[in-house]
Amino acid sequence: MEGIELLKKWIDESDNIVFFGGAGVSTESGIPDFRSVDGLYNQQYDYPPETILSHTFYMRKPEEFYRFYRNKMIAKDVKPNRAHLALAKLEAEGKLRAVITQNIDGLHQAAGSREVLELHGSVLRNYCTRCGRFYGLDAITGSEGVPVCSCGGTIKPDVVLYEEGLDQETLQKSVDYISRADVLIIGGTSLTVYPAAGLIDYYRGRKLVLINKDVTPLDKRADLVITGKIGEVLGEVCGINQEEK
Ligand code: NAD
Repeated sequence: MEGIELLKKWIDESDNIVFFGGAGVSTESGIPDFRSVDGLYNQQYDYPPETILSHTFYMRKPEEFYRFYRNKMIAKDVKPNRAHLALAKLEAEGKLRAVITQNIDGLHQAAGSREVLELHGSVLRNYCTRCGRFYGLDAITGSEGVPVCSCGGTIKPDVVLYEEGLDQETLQKSVDYISRADVLIIGGTSLTVYPAAGLIDYYRGRKLVLINKDVTPLDKRADLVITGKIGEVLGEVCGINQEEK
């Protein structure tokens, strides 16, 4: 595949790689993204996912929010794919400093990555909006309708909904990693969701790698564009076999 050899060389030479990714990193694990042809936008719903996953919608129609959320945002029995495993391997080898992700599925940690900055939170964490009590995923999967805490308050996922702000500490750490990175690998994101997509403006190096199966708005700015499936690309670059999944 074109570009693979150059990416291998840059990875070999660096101990300061940062990865920034999105929903496309998990499609090979069976979790749909939003904007691919087979993504959630192209399936039939009364509203687009961004409307349902907005703060306004959550407040106005919580039952519908939870119906969509349970069906589409929580994936059961999913496993990390070769992209997640390759990134965890690069971190273990002391080459990769951090994974910055827009994903909420927890698959980077499941693959063994330790420094994972979850810009949009995680479906694995949930909390009571009244008393603050923490709940795991079971509170959502094991309930129906709007999940309720023992205190009577509503349980909300620790996921950043559209219209909600990002955690400032996570954002600042991401800026720090990206601005100091030698190689920045961006993959599986349409780069259309802000402020997350704006983070890449902090990169100052000359090894900006973009791995995506479709064209993105950043293609012209990248130093290396690899068109393909990210699991296949990173799997090949890092020597992760299909069987290791
Ligand atoms: P997106 O759906 O807007 O874009 C996904 C991008 O990844 C597209 O450009 C698509 O072409 C590409 N892609 C899909 N599969 C790929 C593959 N195997 N290899 C390489 N590229 C691939 O996703 P986004 O930019 O992350 O923004 C959507 C928002 O919704 C984000 O906040 C995201 O985290 C969230 N979301 C998360 C999940 C998850 O946690 N797994 C799933 C859906 C949406």
